[in-house]
Amino acid sequence: MKTPEKLLLLPMPHKVKRTDGHLKLPTQLSIHPGQDTILLPTILDELSADLSKNNDAASISLLTAKEAPRRLRAMSEKEEGYSLEITSSGIDIYASSDAGFLYGAMTVRQLLQQFGGKIPCMEIGDAPVLATRGIQLSFPQGQTAYRPAYMKHLVPWLARMKINELYLYLESFFDFPSLPHMAGPDAMTPAQARSLDKLCKRYNITLIPMLNTLGHCGELLATQRFNHLNEYVAGTERRLSRPFNFCSSSAEVRKLVDGMLNDLCDCFSSPIFHVGGDEVSCIGKCPVCSKLNKDELEIYVDYFDRVFDVLESRGKRGGIWGDMLLKYCASEDSDGLSRIPQSFLERAVIFDWEYSAGSLKSLQFFVNSGFKTIACSSTHLCYSSSVWPYQRDNQRALFKDAITVDTQGGMTTAWANWLGLQEEQFNYLHASGAALLWSGVKGKDFAKGLDVSSFESAYCLQRYGLTDGTLTEYLHILGNASGPILKHLVPYHALEVRKCIYHTDNVLRVWVNYAELFQDGKFKQYKAGVADARKLWEKINKTDAIKSDPYLKYFEGPLLVHELLALRYEMTEEIYAFYDKAAAVQYTDRKAFAVLLDKAAKRLEAHLVDSKQIESYLRNGRRSLGFDKSTLNRMRATRGGIKELSAYIKHLKKSHRPLPVFQQLHNTFMEEFLTDWYGDREHEWADESPRFVRFSKTPMRATTAAVAKAAKETGD
Ligand SMILES: [Zn+2]
Repeated sequence: MKTPEKLLLLPMPHKVKRTDGHLKLPTQLSIHPGQDTILLPTILDELSADLSKNNDAASISLLTAKEAPRRLRAMSEKEEGYSLEITSSGIDIYASSDAGFLYGAMTVRQLLQQFGGKIPCMEIGDAPVLATRGIQLSFPQGQTAYRPAYMKHLVPWLARMKINELYLYLESFFDFPSLPHMAGPDAMTPAQARSLDKLCKRYNITLIPMLNTLGHCGELLATQRFNHLNEYVAGTERRLSRPFNFCSSSAEVRKLVDGMLNDLCDCFSSPIFHVGGDEVSCIGKCPVCSKLNKDELEIYVDYFDRVFDVLESRGKRGGIWGDMLLKYCASEDSDGLSRIPQSFLERAVIFDWEYSAGSLKSLQFFVNSGFKTIACSSTHLCYSSSVWPYQRDNQRALFKDAITVDTQGGMTTAWANWLGLQEEQFNYLHASGAALLWSGVKGKDFAKGLDVSSFESAYCLQRYGLTDGTLTEYLHILGNASGPILKHLVPYHALEVRKCIYHTDNVLRVWVNYAELFQDGKFKQYKAGVADARKLWEKINKTDAIKSDPYLKYFEGPLLVHELLALRYEMTEEIYAFYDKAAAVQYTDRKAFAVLLDKAAKRLEAHLVDSKQIESYLRNGRRSLGFDKSTLNRMRATRGGIKELSAYIKHLKKSHRPLPVFQQLHNTFMEEFLTDWYGDREHEWADESPRFVRFSKTPMRATTAAVAKAAKETGD
């Protein structure tokens, strides 16, 4: 007998039993709702089905858990659980909740995606291992603009993977009615929030706002209007303190925070509201707070207990990150936990984050202390040059621990959506997170029922309709630290790759970063790796998926960065060679000297067109995914810098100063000329024609020798 085709579902249902035969479905599906569900319109949409009044004529029937055959009943009765009975005469979906019917239908959708109109007969019993399964999108840190069309695209995809929570990290990227004029450009409006909330409900997704209310409040504190609310150490200059933490005892802070909380409560229907609370770097230190006779833990807990009061009055519970409580309470000799009031213990939802490993101990600490706890992993976008597929193993380790200690749920965070990347390009890790949180972990499988290779096939098929592994192969080539591209860039293989293109306006930065790493033929190997990735991308570019998914094309972004990096490096080596030869003949052959510098300048200018494609990627990405604007501004400034450097090299033709060492073109000419004392050959920069004059400036710190001297005198 032919072995049945392996199922490629994501997440994989808990129990699947193949039975004999196939079900041939009509081109137009119809659904008979034997049981009412408010999610019926969504189910009809997702299966492109008509409503049928006649059970016998319908291809799919929705039935109560009670009507399920005994062997399928238990799963159908579970929260969000469902069962499917697929026979040659039709599909019955049994469930006891709206979510159960939706998820049953989503599994049918995935079966259709894999098998088309002829589905093998089978029985499925399925329910989630963890109750809440989320992902987070971040707007403020990378100044990501809010794009409603993208959210409309994203939400159904999350539901298809049975994600049921979407967190939005907002800070001032929300147009608060209580704080007019404070929202960033393209920030989410209340009307957009309400409309997204409604859409999420249709997909059984709770849309949860996240607002920092103590630490990480720089977005407001960096305005002159609110800067006086910054917590700072008594005796230091408040006006020069880093704008980051609210003063926890300020009545004005309370009013400000309450206004924002109420604004968001007016728009988001979620019963949970995430109010930040992480990495509070200064607390209880200002002249007022330090006289309260409370330690940091008391101040912290009292502050949030009051925030929870406000939320409770709006029918909501507050969530905070776990790191500060771990700091105050988790050590063995700490009595912190016993000093936390019951009201706080009962109301706080703890988001315990660990992005690079499992975290059994901290999860255990929170769950055993009685907190409702969510385990938080991350896509690591903020540290990556491209999606790093192996981050899935960190997710797996953490979510495995979460299941062991039985947390409420888990979620995959995202931070600093910036520098030419956005979470959509990391949706591989949304998929892996979804599979783990729904199915759990068993034995050697990646997630229960899915080994790594089946997971990747299911991701390609279910997310993009791709029936081969080109896409994941492409992601591995670009993202694996030991892959044919990044292994040549270690230790500047991660965020540094993006930074040397996007986070500078200095065209020579690539060369400074990588000249040493690219010695001994490594550049050639690196280029070959990039060329392989290009070949794979061209294959993906020819698939229907590129046409049907408007955001898949952005997966080209990380490849474009490497291609520009390679072109920029080659260009710099070429102009270095011209420049070096010119220096050798500067005072012996003025004509050859001028020709060589002209060649260098021309080569540099020819590089201007090399960034055309990547700039168009960034512009389109800003329009559709909300990429930050500064990155585009820096790319434009880089072109300006190229022209200026070229003008300077041409100018040197007439100059009698010895050509400055090439690295000074990067440091002194293109950057601020920083030094504690004086710059080498600064007199020549001082004597340049006005356009090219450079002078050194001091970095903003006291020189160590002076500090040491003062310490010696005072005996510190
Ligand atoms: Zn204070």
